[in-house]
Amino acid sequence: MVSDGTLTPEELAERAHSSGVQLWALTDHDEISGQQRAAAAAHAHAMDYLTGTEISVSFASTTVHIVGLGFDTGNTALVAGLAATRGGRDSRAQAMARDLARVGIHSAYEGALKSVSNPALISRTHFARFLVETRVCKDTSEVFRKYLVEGKPGFVEHRWASLGDAVRWITQAGGVAVIAHPARYRLTANEEFALFSEFKQHGGEGVEVVTGSHSVAEYAEYADMAREFGLAASRGSDFHSPDESHTALGSLPTLPRNVTPVWELLAERIQRAA
Ligand code: AMP
Ligand code: MN
Repeated sequence: MVSDGTLTPEELAERAHSSGVQLWALTDHDEISGQQRAAAAAHAHAMDYLTGTEISVSFASTTVHIVGLGFDTGNTALVAGLAATRGGRDSRAQAMARDLARVGIHSAYEGALKSVSNPALISRTHFARFLVETRVCKDTSEVFRKYLVEGKPGFVEHRWASLGDAVRWITQAGGVAVIAHPARYRLTANEEFALFSEFKQHGGEGVEVVTGSHSVAEYAEYADMAREFGLAASRGSDFHSPDESHTALGSLPTLPRNVTPVWELLAERIQRAA
């Protein structure tokens, strides 16, 4: 990845290929500069490729991720929108470090930067890595219970893109917008209904059903939501690194039978391996 993952696009392609992935999309946060390398690496392993990204959106007092698939990487509105979304990360990271210093955790900004390959994309994942390395927490999941989340040290409110902007940047660039890992947001039932209906009104077409961030019960729950809202279903690893991810690349179960796979909407946009 070129955002907060630990592997390069070439290393990810290699892993995806050896786990039997046939169609792959690299989805860096708010960033598409790794797309050409990823497509070339996919084709070198005879995998089909779809362009991808994951846009951070502020919605109902939380951050929701909207995945874009199969867009044109040269689209100027998309490129400008992603640049604007990335813009606030560095100053937010410095504010996060000041907040951690208040509870005695020092030099977190410098510590987080150590695992950052692209400084414009410093994220909570990099702070989580620092907190595990320095043994403040035993693992990433402890970090996201005790730190960096609303009400805990190191959390800094930040305005990301709006839902409508993110969906339009993707769709106007010819892509399909997908709600990423919906079970992770802890929305109330009303908020979740609002997310799905507004997303659909803005032109969103898919929802992640099978993902490394969902339980088996949640696969069925969000397959039902996909049908209820007329959305296609997507499957993604949410893979960040071999040590941090719950799921290995390509190891997830297949989609439930009663949903339309999102790649059926994307047949024209797939970059086929020769
Ligand atoms: P940011 O965009 O800086 O808010 O950070 C988002 C990153 O934090 C994503 O890459 C997530 O993988 C990670 N993250 C957020 N919540 C959790 C969680 N509960 N467990 C593990 N990782 C999380
Ligand atoms: Mn995500």
